[in-house]
Amino acid sequence: MTARKFNVATDEEISTCQASDVYFERSISSIEKVSGSENVVSEVTVSGPLDTWINFSGLDEVINLLQGKNVDMYAIPEGTVLSPRDSRGTPVPFVWIEGNYSEFGKCETSILGFLCQSSGISTKSSKIRLAAGDAKFYSFGIRRMHPALSPMIDRAAFIGGADGVSGILGAEVIGERPVGTMPHALSLLLGDHDAWETVVKNSPSGSRTVLIDTFSDEKFAALKAAETFPEIDYIRLDTPSSRRGNFPAIVREVRWELDLRGYSRVKIMVSGGLDEDSVRELRKAGADAFGVGTSISAAKPFDFAMDIVEIAGKSGTKKGKFSGRKDVLRCGSCNSLRVVPFGQGNLQCTCGGEMKSLMKKYLSRGIPTGKYEAPGKIRERALNELKSLSQADSNGKGTA
Ligand SMILES: [Zn+2]
Repeated sequence: MTARKFNVATDEEISTCQASDVYFERSISSIEKVSGSENVVSEVTVSGPLDTWINFSGLDEVINLLQGKNVDMYAIPEGTVLSPRDSRGTPVPFVWIEGNYSEFGKCETSILGFLCQSSGISTKSSKIRLAAGDAKFYSFGIRRMHPALSPMIDRAAFIGGADGVSGILGAEVIGERPVGTMPHALSLLLGDHDAWETVVKNSPSGSRTVLIDTFSDEKFAALKAAETFPEIDYIRLDTPSSRRGNFPAIVREVRWELDLRGYSRVKIMVSGGLDEDSVRELRKAGADAFGVGTSISAAKPFDFAMDIVEIAGKSGTKKGKFSGRKDVLRCGSCNSLRVVPFGQGNLQCTCGGEMKSLMKKYLSRGIPTGKYEAPGKIRERALNELKSLSQADSNGKGTA
């Protein structure tokens, strides 16, 4: 038994693929005993219904893990929004790796862990993005997960479309300033008046956000805050579930009373137990900004799986899987997807558009093929892709 201060794997343990299921280590030593080692291609796919979509992320850590190992790696860029199956139902290879099985086989656990969790979070964040429309939303959920994961959680939430993150480390990773309002503790310790005054004095214009639900009714506290400090930009409602009754109704009422008294410029931010459905409803009710926590940070991971699809140059795989190294083509006009054997080249889509490869080579014999994209760039791609997704949805065509 080894005692750890915190129950996390170290960078060194992750880099050497020790955070792995034991059966990989056992099988690799057996393979080495029998046949030396084999050159293989392994691909990462995810099974799922045709009507789901993924905002793919987590690849940055896979690249860092495999860098320096003698492998080639192709993948779909992070921030690409796509269905896990093509238009015929063939599973999309999100990543494939070629190399000696003993070189990367036991890293499977970590590779999948990076992709499953990060993509789960970025996809959930994209669902909130679509629900929030042009309203701002922020990732406030790192407190619900292990602190070791906070940079990854906030990065994935940002790539998914969050406008900012509350975590100091996550903000560092994405190259943005962390976003925060005020804790209830400030009102409990100073009283509402002094707490609000502190926030108004110390926050830059545009982000003066005061919590108004610590002691009294939301409507009367909102009016009191706006009357006392007209320079407030946002009042924030973090109403506990025991007092909520009908949260959109509270937001509608607060909005009405603020507008009636000339405080239309004071916006409403809401937080507490939000997901895409409540965000959509609260947006309609008049909320202007959202702090979203657990539904993003604890988003359900995707079940990515890794399988050998080629051994010593010959296509072959287990039953239930599609053999051979592959490419994914996407139509520039209608977004439809087609999985094809690798190297086949572009195709003409049935709609007349051109289908081009989505996959990119990221590692050549363990060396990165270029400088990796900044999270802001990846987020831009995702937001562009989400636009076409919401158009496709509104045309009733479903997703790519
Ligand atoms: Zn097309």
